[in-house]
Amino acid sequence: QADEKESMYLVSEYASKYFQKILHKTDPGNAIGLSYFKERGFTAETIKKFDLGYCLDEWDAFTKEALGSGYKLDYLEKTGLTIVKGEKQFDRFKGRVMFPIHSMSGRVLGFGGRILTNEKKAAKYLNSPESEIYHKSKVLYGIYHAKQAIAKEDNCYLVEGYTDVIQFNQTGIENVVSSSGTALTSEQIRLINRLTKNITVLFDGDAAGTRASLRGIDLILEQGMNVKVCTFPEGEDPDSFAKKYSEEELKIFLQENAYDFISYKASLLVKEAKNDPVKKADVIRDMVSSISKIPDNIQQEIYVQECSRIMDISEDVLFTTLAQLNSRDQ
Ligand code: ATP
Ligand code: MN
Ligand code: MN
Ligand code: MN
Repeated sequence: QADEKESMYLVSEYASKYFQKILHKTDPGNAIGLSYFKERGFTAETIKKFDLGYCLDEWDAFTKEALGSGYKLDYLEKTGLTIVKGEKQFDRFKGRVMFPIHSMSGRVLGFGGRILTNEKKAAKYLNSPESEIYHKSKVLYGIYHAKQAIAKEDNCYLVEGYTDVIQFNQTGIENVVSSSGTALTSEQIRLINRLTKNITVLFDGDAAGTRASLRGIDLILEQGMNVKVCTFPEGEDPDSFAKKYSEEELKIFLQENAYDFISYKASLLVKEAKNDPVKKADVIRDMVSSISKIPDNIQQEIYVQECSRIMDISEDVLFTTLAQLNSRDQ
């Protein structure tokens, strides 16, 4: 079992090296990978730092080379790098630029691959399937490069995508990780919790996800962590935004636009409910439910006072609802 996992790590590391080698080959079939990253504004240094690569737009170029180098088809299939159909073998990531996903200690666990166009013919991003070495609910993209900075800054920025992590690093902010499109899990938060008690969640400025992402944040509160949120202007995500600004400007923006999560959620919900009393009751329960996740009673009390003010509802009602939830959860 341990041997099998080690073999899967080795083939993943081989694949990462191979995809990097292909990215830097200059014949026309390969060059489109590197051009893609350059067009997105990634420097050579950044491309190297994150071991970015390219998988040729051929059916089995990678698989053939891996087999030729002595890697076993069994492990290529178990890591999902190769799809086996009867006698035939296909490269899962055919024609995609490659983002290797590293563990806390820097081992390659899996990959994200992006198509080069924005046409809707195929999924924009494709990830390695779940395997003995890749559990998507337990990994955070960027954690290997971020861990020192998270501890040093005593804060972690949480973003939605691979390119947000990379662009922040290039701009000079290294304490950043991504759950890469999956809903945030308690295991992922625990990885951060070992390094800092402070998380700042950065939402894409597309509203679609914001309401849903608020749910994931309760999981952070549950672990007794402090949560701030920051939203980007309409149509911007951390990647596109960071690209336009200097490190200094970006840091100022993040400072000025980070709001305490509870207050942020209260203002958001109160706007949503407007003067509809039924909706307002729902919103109050939702809000108190978030507060009930906070393990510290004194902190809970402070937030009740603040929500009472923001939502224009008496503290008594909030405390009663909170007591009901607290007793139900015990
Ligand atoms: P890009 O800037 O390259 O277009 P993004 O990171 O801004 O990508 P979003 O659409 O904001 O992409 O999605 C955030 C993250 O969700 C992605 O980085 C990726 O990890 C994941 N994701 C997006 N689309 C898909 C998809 N079709 N299948 C699987 N995961 C996806
Ligand atoms: Mn998005
Ligand atoms: Mn995005
Ligand atoms: Mn983007």
